[in-house]
Amino acid sequence: MKITVGMVARPSTSWANKTGSWRVGTRPRFLQDKCNACDLCALSCPEGCVFGEARNDYHADLDFCKGCGNCAEVCPVNDIEMVPEEKSLPQDWIVFTDEQEFKSMSTA
Ligand code: SF4
Ligand code: SF4
Repeated sequence: MKITVGMVARPSTSWANKTGSWRVGTRPRFLQDKCNACDLCALSCPEGCVFGEARNDYHADLDFCKGCGNCAEVCPVNDIEMVPEEKSLPQDWIVFTDEQEFKSMSTA
């Protein structure tokens, strides 16, 4: 769907738009370790793209996840973390996964 000024989207068309392409920088990683199936991550996701039915079963459909971080923010047991997504960045970007790695590169 091409988005133009004044565009109106027909209802129930959001599944046709793979909003995952809007994601830049980070994506959620469901650790599936301490999940108690409270469903808060699914309820807080603006894309409705978090699914799960039991403890340690939750995951996000990355075709639609925009990387907003809501799910990680609301998880009461910190079982979701936002992680760098290297493939969503330009090829010549360098992604540091921790401070130590950044320091070693910047002093080299
Ligand atoms: S990061 Fe945002 S869009 Fe992606 S699954 Fe979590 S709440 Fe949904
Ligand atoms: S918010 Fe956390 S504990 Fe609750 S269902 Fe999602 S991953 Fe599991």
